[in-house]
Amino acid sequence: GKKALVIGAGGVSNVVCHKCAQNSEVFSSIMIASRTKAKCDEIKERIEKSKYAGRIEIQTAKVDANNVSELVALINEYKPDIVINVALPYQDLTIMDACLETKTDYLDTANYEPLDTAKFEYKWQWAYKEKFEKAGITAILGSGFDPGVTGVFSAYAQKHYFDEINYIDILDANAGDHGYPFATNFNPEINIREVTANGSYWEDGKWVETEPMEIKRVYNFPQIGEKDMYLLHHEELESLAVNIKGIKRIRFFMTFGQSYLTHLKVLENVGMTSIEPIEFEGKKIVPLQFLTAVLPDPASLGPRTKGKTNIGNIFRGKKDGVEKTYYVYNVCDHEECYKEVSSQAISYTTGVPAMIGAAMVLTGEWKKPGVFNVEEMDPDPFMEALNKFGLPWVEDFNPTLVD
Ligand code: NDP
Repeated sequence: GKKALVIGAGGVSNVVCHKCAQNSEVFSSIMIASRTKAKCDEIKERIEKSKYAGRIEIQTAKVDANNVSELVALINEYKPDIVINVALPYQDLTIMDACLETKTDYLDTANYEPLDTAKFEYKWQWAYKEKFEKAGITAILGSGFDPGVTGVFSAYAQKHYFDEINYIDILDANAGDHGYPFATNFNPEINIREVTANGSYWEDGKWVETEPMEIKRVYNFPQIGEKDMYLLHHEELESLAVNIKGIKRIRFFMTFGQSYLTHLKVLENVGMTSIEPIEFEGKKIVPLQFLTAVLPDPASLGPRTKGKTNIGNIFRGKKDGVEKTYYVYNVCDHEECYKEVSSQAISYTTGVPAMIGAAMVLTGEWKKPGVFNVEEMDPDPFMEALNKFGLPWVEDFNPTLVD
């Protein structure tokens, strides 16, 4: 069996670790390492009390993933076959550096972002391509749900249903209700940076920028119903624009309820979402980091969230010269996720694909030297694994389109 070093011990890590234990055909051992070792130990205990108990060996360690030499020492000691990075996007490059130094394969779920600029771009990580090729190791970028499964869906559509895909709309709906007036479903700092930034979409070879939440549509989601959704910039738009042939436009929409938006507007108006440090009682603090500390921990939402998510892609393109449409999506139930792995659906839909991506590398299906986005790899074994590990997908060949 194979060994994985899982970095981070938040909501997503909890799911990744449970799913590695479930997939004991591939994984024989994991090490969970984070800044706070107690959180790693909690995940280990949870697995050991779950239905996945005893299937794989689990170790824990403390590591500061901003520190390359600490990471290198840990990798040399544990000797993993792959590092699964589910810490925060700020740690991507230091972890990639440690993987290069130790010649270890790498996988993450979110692209690198410098702390002081809220901007999602692959340029920093794509710059590692040659180094990874030379070292003969694989890096898989963005193997969560979006990015992640949305890229695999695109590769699958391209491979099986289209000669040319011209339009992609990615729709991310969360009809979950946690009962709090305001909370975020994953790391609040990362989430708020994402939704307060300008929106943008890719059209005719260039980015079109919008004001935050400027473009609104209403969509009737299968198994969820009608929801307001807003156009956001999202990181997979950048790689899909490069990797899917014939693309004319790609957009990303996410649903938000009125209460969430009203709270966000107020927090923004009073300056609480700013990432500019301010002076407070003789100490420099970043308002958004302070806000994150005040808001409910996303992990605490698990036991109280009811409802479903629906995330998928609508494609329009051509096959044998004929116009064609195709919608593929997954519906995930918050309460069922919680019952299975003690996490809500947002962490679940991210953690399952991270485990699957790592398994693809470990079994050799996705093992090539270099740095890759998921849509550059064969989607078939990944799609099969989604059905097997809890994220079954549904196809619709006559979907309602978004205008
Ligand atoms: P959490 O905030 O719950 O967990 C993050 C973890 O990272 C914490 O355990 C934290 O450690 C750890 N961490 C932070 N800094 C360091 C460091 N310097 N060294 C070691 N560990 C560190 O986040 P989530 O689990 O919700 O999200 C994890 C990742 O998944 C994020 O990058 C997020 O952007 C991504 N994501 C991707 C999605 C997708 O679909 N592609 C969707 C949702 C999330 P500690 O608590 O010990 O301080």
